[in-house]
Amino acid sequence: MYSPLYFDYNATTPCLKEVVDSMLPYFNQDFGNPSSSHHPYGWLAKSAVEDATVAIANNLGVTPSSLVYTSGATESINMVLIGVARKMQSKGNHIITTKAEHKAVLDTCAFLEENGFEVTYLDVDSKGLISTEMLSDMLRPETILVSILYANNETGTIQPLDEISKLTHENGSLLFSDTTQALGKLDLTKVFQFVDFACFSAHKVYGPKGIGLVFIKDNEGGNGLPSFIHGGGQQKKQRGGTLNTPLIIGFSKAIELAHDNLNTEIQRLETLRNKLEKGLLKIDLSISNSAPPRRLSNTVHISFPYVDGTNLLTALSRQIAVSNGSACNSASVEPSHVLTAMGIERSLAYASLRLSIGRFTTANEIDKAIEIITNEVAKQREQNILWERRK
Ligand code: PLP
Repeated sequence: MYSPLYFDYNATTPCLKEVVDSMLPYFNQDFGNPSSSHHPYGWLAKSAVEDATVAIANNLGVTPSSLVYTSGATESINMVLIGVARKMQSKGNHIITTKAEHKAVLDTCAFLEENGFEVTYLDVDSKGLISTEMLSDMLRPETILVSILYANNETGTIQPLDEISKLTHENGSLLFSDTTQALGKLDLTKVFQFVDFACFSAHKVYGPKGIGLVFIKDNEGGNGLPSFIHGGGQQKKQRGGTLNTPLIIGFSKAIELAHDNLNTEIQRLETLRNKLEKGLLKIDLSISNSAPPRRLSNTVHISFPYVDGTNLLTALSRQIAVSNGSACNSASVEPSHVLTAMGIERSLAYASLRLSIGRFTTANEIDKAIEIITNEVAKQREQNILWERRK
């Protein structure tokens, strides 16, 4: 089995050994159900979950009661959008989001539209940023929720949540931000002041797959959501079902490790990202689709004109794992909806690569990636008659 270089950390990350080790006892030794309140097996599991939740809350700078466990960010997004819509429908039926959201938001919004809600999709500019003037114009008295992705999973573009929060709250609406890609890559302290709801997923931060979180700012008070999964009454009845002790422990460990050296790691990744981007931009006519200065430190997104995108990805797949859109959308033959929302024409959107680096990426791998992609783009262009005739 060959192992290509891994440049797809925004799709998922390997689960760290420390994380796996922290989970193991809770599979077979301390396996109790945290809801079993009549014996020590249950007490132990309950106390492990409580300790893990307090640790997550301390690392994020939020209260433990603001956190609800889910199966991942997709479920968290469904829970918030559908929950707020159901809860607030007597106030209004209007939701605002953007055309460059993750499909988990867009598909949930489409579901809400089928059920009588009205959704406004804000345009983004050529770097993926929304216009706050446009947001201000679209807000109405009946707008119950604004849902805006904080850090884009494809381009790394970071939206101005401070201004978005001000406008949204002045209008009396609630703000949700999909913060899935920001955890472990940005300091989120301020973000929790700006938003009413946020979401996370452990597998994006070197934790296990199958566990996520919803952050609900005023969970004890006004913002608590209606039951999303019924049964058992767990998690303040918001999401029933036996709590998954091992995955919660693993998620907590992953967040602790991510926060241990967050600033040093951001700096290290930024240096590597700049080296990668600089190297790839030496390829003739290549264009960066990321927006300086507010962008993720690990993401590079570049288009290569005169290249067939599908052939490029196929040729690269044995040597380097990259993506040309959202991984969750990889079965689709449509170009990335994020790039088309940014006004990039279809053939160029196909001929684009997202490279996302992470904890195990080295400078040597960056050099190799630049070399592999440079050679492959040249090969693809040699076979393209339009490349020859471009002048
Ligand atoms: N939101 C964003 C921005 C993402 O990048 C992803 C994963 O690709 C998701 C949501 C969905 O996350 P999960 O795989 O935990 O459902």
